Amino acid sequence: MSATTKPQTKATSFDAEALRADFPALQQDIYDDTPLVYLDNAATSQTPTAVIDRLEHFHSRENSNVHRGVHRLSQDATDEYESARESIATFIDAPNPEQVIFTRGTTEGLNLISSTFGELVVDEGDEILLTEMEHHSNIVPWQMLAEQVGAEIRVLPVSDRGELEMDRLGEFLTDDTALVAVTHVSNTLGTINPVGDLIDSAHAQDVPVVLDGAQSAPHMPVDVQALDADFFVFSGHKMFGPTGIGILYGKREHLEAMPPYHGGGDMIDEVSFEKSTYDGLPHKFEAGTPHIAGVVGLGTAAEYMMDLNWDAVQAHEDDVLAYATEQVQAIDGLRIVGTAPEKTSVLSFVFEDIHPYDAGTFLDRLGIAVRTGHHCTQPLVERYGLPGTIRASFAAYNTREDADRLVEGLRCVKQMLGDS
Ligand code: PMP
Repeated sequence: MSATTKPQTKATSFDAEALRADFPALQQDIYDDTPLVYLDNAATSQTPTAVIDRLEHFHSRENSNVHRGVHRLSQDATDEYESARESIATFIDAPNPEQVIFTRGTTEGLNLISSTFGELVVDEGDEILLTEMEHHSNIVPWQMLAEQVGAEIRVLPVSDRGELEMDRLGEFLTDDTALVAVTHVSNTLGTINPVGDLIDSAHAQDVPVVLDGAQSAPHMPVDVQALDADFFVFSGHKMFGPTGIGILYGKREHLEAMPPYHGGGDMIDEVSFEKSTYDGLPHKFEAGTPHIAGVVGLGTAAEYMMDLNWDAVQAHEDDVLAYATEQVQAIDGLRIVGTAPEKTSVLSFVFEDIHPYDAGTFLDRLGIAVRTGHHCTQPLVERYGLPGTIRASFAAYNTREDADRLVEGLRCVKQMLGDS
């Protein structure tokens, strides 16, 4: 399979029930024979048998270090590791696998960019433009950089219904803007941001754009070349892959100009006590023994996703979200947070008289896994004057029946914990 051509989707339709059968964790009963309804996919998705088997095979037959052994196992591990890189390059349409860097996840990818590229392009007096809906991992690394170099953080506001206030972009994207970092999809609101327009506007001023793809990579085909983002980062564990492994894609000219992030084995060309020189892409950014099993498992997760018919998957996910939204908003005293027309897979809401934590704990006893709190977007939930939200987040294997169980559970919550 070429690294630049997306494979033809093998499936012609999509059967969520059949997909669900691939995920052992979804088959379990919890709390005395209550079947699990898993609606915390924006935090971490479940793992299909294909990935579990791949990890098992790696550990039982291929486990060894990469890029350094002359022996057979090390060569096998290296081949599998590099072949996973090719699969990921195909998955995001990267022009070359060398531009796919393995990280621990989105958070590490963003820290890597801020500590290396950030230091190259952001100077004293410059501005870094973020948005009000960023995850903490796309806020804090930039604040650390801003503090270090004397730059300023600017924040593009979000509207009441959860859209970026694009008509105010001109106020925030100024002659002093050195870099824009924005999430493709909001993990708290589900809003799909108009990143194409943002990137065009930023590039018109020669400002590079970092895209946080943690919530988009699991739900839509991503083409980094069409997006023209300077960087795109995401995590394996939200797209059916293992935890502790993620991807940083970058434009070649940036990656080549950036200094290494970590020093150590595997990232060098030559080392002496006087001076060391560094390896080329992608190894310059992969110091030390990487999460080899994680990489191999993530490669399988990407192949698994590429085998799905994404038009059908998206239609299904949109249907479940629309169905759940309609049912949930009919519950008395419940308000949905995030009502942008362009949304995917996330349904956040609050009860007027029940704390999100209490509602989440009650739902858990009914076998329904949701997330409650600020979802690592504290400035965003504070903008809405909330202590947090209850968030149901869906994956391709969720169905209308899951939404029915959620609604049933919420009605119980209302009855048992509500004021009236
Ligand atoms: N950005 C967004 C939008 C996210 O949803 C998350 C995970 N909740 C992250 C960044 C951080 O991802 P990770 O914890 O895998 O590094």
